[in-house]
Amino acid sequence: MNRRRFIASALTAAAASSVGVGCERKEFDLLIAQGLVFDGLGNEPAVMDIGVRGDRIVALGDLSGRSCHRWINAAGMAVTPGFIDVHAHSDVALLANPNAESKIHQGVTTEICGNCGDSPYPLDEVRSRETIAALQRQYELAVNWRDLAGYFDQVEKNGVCLNVAVLVGHSSLREAAMGPDDRAPSATELRTMCAILRDYLALGALGLSTGLEYKPGMYAETGELIDLCKEVAKQGAVYATHLRNEDLRVEEALDEALAIGAAAGCRVQISHFKACQKRNWPKTSRLLKTVDRARRDGLEVCCDRYPYTAYSTSLKLLFPVWSRAGSDEDLIARLSNEREWLKIRAFVQDKIEALGSWESVLITRVSSPERKQCEGQTVARLAGDDDPYDFVRQLMIDAKGDVSMCGFAMSEEDTAAVLTYAHTMVGSDGDSLAPYGVLSRGMP
Ligand SMILES: [Zn+2]
Repeated sequence: MNRRRFIASALTAAAASSVGVGCERKEFDLLIAQGLVFDGLGNEPAVMDIGVRGDRIVALGDLSGRSCHRWINAAGMAVTPGFIDVHAHSDVALLANPNAESKIHQGVTTEICGNCGDSPYPLDEVRSRETIAALQRQYELAVNWRDLAGYFDQVEKNGVCLNVAVLVGHSSLREAAMGPDDRAPSATELRTMCAILRDYLALGALGLSTGLEYKPGMYAETGELIDLCKEVAKQGAVYATHLRNEDLRVEEALDEALAIGAAAGCRVQISHFKACQKRNWPKTSRLLKTVDRARRDGLEVCCDRYPYTAYSTSLKLLFPVWSRAGSDEDLIARLSNEREWLKIRAFVQDKIEALGSWESVLITRVSSPERKQCEGQTVARLAGDDDPYDFVRQLMIDAKGDVSMCGFAMSEEDTAAVLTYAHTMVGSDGDSLAPYGVLSRGMP
């Protein structure tokens, strides 16, 4: 059975609306009157009425005087199809709380999850043990599925108040097939990855995602990704990629993504398209030109971008790749070693100079209860008169490496340029939150 989630047409009134009853005949179940209607097809918006029967729009235009069960006066408001959040991370959050309040209240009715190489499937009992434990800890639920079919069943059983479409995360796929190691897959392991991907695409996954700045996805050579993307191409699916680098080497990273798409013959989606750090901002226009050139050469490539100038990630990403090799305990051991710390510190110093200052690093979530008060504050403020590098080092050690941050690294002008680019879609890069329960943790 094909489990692809069909996107139902849905309507969102952009602000509070007045609801009235009083029609005598029942031609429509719902009549939305006099809203400025954006039809989602790119046509100029126009003031009109919308007649809905069941879950279908059955009439558009001047419907004054027509009968209905329920009538909404949308005069002075915009009416649009439900928004699609093309880059979301709500995979397990939707199981922890199916109401998806932070999304629904913004008009999002469809989320595409499984981005940045990270999906809660496949999960191997042994090789994914740490991932399973981390998910259970973070969301306080039993992770009792292991594959995409099991995940879909769980979502269906639980119920969810928006439409969900998914990608297969390459890091998750790699971890389940060969563990978290920094090495190339054997021929057998690569075949296993391809077979699982093939099955999941047949089951309805929209494509493959990578997170090439994160472990273990970052260990993949280009060739491994081309082989996997050939499976993607066979099923007309998409390769959505968080590039290998988004600052100093972002141009090379974009070239790699486009080369993978061209070699495999699949569509490419550049995730949260951006050039981080002031010194790299001039690259944005060149990056967009590169995408244009690839499109002219016949590659179907699009981008997505969130409408803010800060990115959100693990604090670990401030540290050099070599220091993050292995487990979090390995990272903490390196941070605790004076000689290693000096090398790490020099690297971090360069990153912070590129970001501007520690004012640009906001701590958003800390796992250890003793350091919770750090959430919502910049490192500059938290460190006060103390050395901010030593502060961050100690915070990482105290929280065993589990700290999240926002980095203010992008320009407002570039953000506008990317968002208004003809082939950009809007994605939040966020997971659904709630003002209570496990989804209320962290800031934001
Ligand atoms: Zn990402």
